[in-house]
Amino acid sequence: MFKSFKKLLTAVIAGAFFSFQAQAQSILRDAETEAFFRQVSYPVFEAAGLTPQSVHIYLLNERSINAFVTGGQNIFFHSGLILAADDVDEFMGVLAHETCHISCGHRIRRGEAAGQAGTFSILSLVLGAAAIALGGGDAGIGILSAGQTVAQRQFLAYTRGEEAEADLAGARYLDQVGVSASGMIRFFDKLRDQEILAQVRQDPYVRSHPLNRTRILNLQEDTADAVHINSPPDEFVNERFKRLQAKLAGYLMEPRQTLRKYPLGDRSIAARYARVYAYHKALDWDLAIAEADALIAAEPNNPYFYEIKGQILFENGRVEESVPVLRQAVELAPREPLIATALAQSLVSFEDTDRMREAVPILETATRQDRGNTFAWFNLAKAYSWLEMQPEASLATAERFYSGGAASQALVHARRAMDGFDTGTPQWLRAQDIMIAAEDAARRQSRRGGRRRLQTSFSVESNSNE
Ligand SMILES: [Zn+2]
Repeated sequence: MFKSFKKLLTAVIAGAFFSFQAQAQSILRDAETEAFFRQVSYPVFEAAGLTPQSVHIYLLNERSINAFVTGGQNIFFHSGLILAADDVDEFMGVLAHETCHISCGHRIRRGEAAGQAGTFSILSLVLGAAAIALGGGDAGIGILSAGQTVAQRQFLAYTRGEEAEADLAGARYLDQVGVSASGMIRFFDKLRDQEILAQVRQDPYVRSHPLNRTRILNLQEDTADAVHINSPPDEFVNERFKRLQAKLAGYLMEPRQTLRKYPLGDRSIAARYARVYAYHKALDWDLAIAEADALIAAEPNNPYFYEIKGQILFENGRVEESVPVLRQAVELAPREPLIATALAQSLVSFEDTDRMREAVPILETATRQDRGNTFAWFNLAKAYSWLEMQPEASLATAERFYSGGAASQALVHARRAMDGFDTGTPQWLRAQDIMIAAEDAARRQSRRGGRRRLQTSFSVESNSNE
């Protein structure tokens, strides 16, 4: 069993991206990208009167251009939208517009049947995908397809009045945080070219956001005397955005395509970043390491460059060498659970008692900070198990399935954990919580005729108590 997991892990972690992948849609998780999202979005959320920490941004691996809000305060971006933006302000424009859909209290209109279930399904897309990555299998796929159905329903979901409000409020938020709304206008205007295409060829964002001339004109008129309307994108923020785009392009595109877009003559950080991924994907390990080294030489204090190098070494089987590199990454970014997990994964793979002992506290911290991190739970269970801490291993495994939305497996392991701990201890209580939630989910599942997507409501609860 362990062997197959290892294979699976190699398949899903490529470079620094943790891809919770299924057939059609997957969630991409990357420490640098998530840190960037938090940094640029928090001021916008605050301007909109929201509590920044309670809004979550997810990156979906989808070529098409789209962004949408669902499940309360969750904003989803397709990777295609990130890649289609010419600069960070275009991305910020969409972010600000979507933010108003949350803060302005817009309700997605859809058939009553969807109701609450819809809310659950899209969140389950996140969690269900994670379940797949770690062997949840079948359950995850069911959850995923439900999520897609909900995503489909987002089309034409808001009224025109709400769309107009989102444009204008979004533009105001941007001005408040010193970003020009011209990026928003440019991006929408660019998409307007698609209006003449047949519906099937349009990007989903165009279908859900009819971009008529009036809409653009209203925005232009309304923002004409905004304080920051003529400000260029912040250079530093834009450079970081370019790096993320390069990273994403390198990760998603065919290596040959990436090398065309970021040719060898281009020695910018972004281009090198893209090439690290292209070479990595093409299994040109030495070239990938050479580009990663060039990045480190350019910015010796950038944790993400050590992270990518360490991951490449690890995946290339150079596990021993990966440890000091990943250690350096963690030292430079001590509060990044995804980076910590990469280091711990390396340590755990040695199957050596001292290294297991070192990995445990790292993983305990990572799972505290990022409860949906199924990779961390998986490795933590493995380390506990090696150290013959069986009840702890069972509880970590229960957490892994719980956060992955697989109720029945979570139930089995939670029961096992309860048997192992003394009654009333914190661990025993936690195991009991998981057991109750899992039983509840299983009951709902059978009540609704065993349709698979029902695992979802269970996983949502586990997600929301973070
Ligand atoms: Zn909208």
